[in-house]
Amino acid sequence: MADQPDPPLQPATRAITGGRAHSGRSLAPALWASSVWQSDDMADARRRATGTRSDEFYSRYGNPTVRSFEDAISELEGAEASLAFASGMGAISSVVLALCSSGDHIVAQRNLYSATLAFLQGPCARFGIEVTFVDATQPGAFAAALRPGRTMMVLAETPSNPRLELADLDEVGGLRGPITVVDSTFATPLGQQPLAHGVHLSLHSATKGIAGHNDATLGVISGERDLVDAVWAYSVLHGATPSPFDALNALRGVRTLAVRTRHQAASAQFLGESLQQHPGVAAVHYPGLHTHPQHDLAKRQMQHFGTVLAIELAGGMAAAEQLLARVRLVRVATSLGGPETLVCHPATTTHASLTAEEMRIQGVTPGLLRVSVGLEDPSDLLTDLHAALAD
Ligand SMILES: *Cc1c(COP(=O)(O)O)cnc(C)c1O
Repeated sequence: MADQPDPPLQPATRAITGGRAHSGRSLAPALWASSVWQSDDMADARRRATGTRSDEFYSRYGNPTVRSFEDAISELEGAEASLAFASGMGAISSVVLALCSSGDHIVAQRNLYSATLAFLQGPCARFGIEVTFVDATQPGAFAAALRPGRTMMVLAETPSNPRLELADLDEVGGLRGPITVVDSTFATPLGQQPLAHGVHLSLHSATKGIAGHNDATLGVISGERDLVDAVWAYSVLHGATPSPFDALNALRGVRTLAVRTRHQAASAQFLGESLQQHPGVAAVHYPGLHTHPQHDLAKRQMQHFGTVLAIELAGGMAAAEQLLARVRLVRVATSLGGPETLVCHPATTTHASLTAEEMRIQGVTPGLLRVSVGLEDPSDLLTDLHAALAD
């Protein structure tokens, strides 16, 4: 790859230049489908088998296509190293089980992606890892829950699923003692950089905005090399190994990430501002709106406000059911970050297993809808949503 010119490149440019070391002269990433590589002799085989993050040994240890994707993410996160996994949950479960042991304590934020919450409440509890949940929107909440000598990890997610609550990255990055992890999926690597705030590991479900086309299932973490290497050593045993095909698709997604997220975030802002005026809408949750209680924090720590918004319908469950039945352009599906605008009803899907009390604590009300804004013309989306909202 050509040397990077001075001055340092802008993030959108780094999304184009990063992750090219393993593709020769090909502009598109090379797909290394191989699960295994040949060694020269015993000494060479020993070196490959025992080295850290060997690239050409056995694909559970590393794969050049996956490495290209990881390198591109490191460029965007400002990280020494990144490590990809077979899914976002593969990343989360591997990080927790790599770094925490029975008897350890985790402080996690309360409003979390539902599978992360289920992992912390289920397997972690079963393995004797205690978790304290805090309200991340309250200043000082993480620090107040730390148990010196016992708290091994702090896990935040910002913006959070599904209510778009924010955690203060300076506050999380300033905690001393535990390893701090931020699930930054909803922001994308171009929306915020947790590592620049002192956070140890930035984590993404690359299934979402990074891959961006609903054709890859992938997770990725970024941080200092020693810490990422420690997670790698465990991940070889855990085996949530990414597919090179998915890494290829995700790296293709990285190339267009800036232009996609810029369009989607602008559309989300437009839809949020418009829908706020609708009598059938009780509230819109989006960090870019002045009405978001943490809008000032969003402006301080985010470069764009994300591609997801949540709307709370005045008519509750019945209104949500009507909207899902009536939308024609907007599709009923649970993921986010892709070209198609999607709507989902957390109370009956992602959060359906919660008790009524847990739903109340999580703010998953009967009328809450999560909207992932896609790449359609926003005026068409607004027309579709207005028609679906009509009495
Ligand atoms: C989707 C998602 C995950 C899980 O990622 P998978 O790729 O589906 O395993 C974790 N955190 C957030 C915020 C997500 O949106």
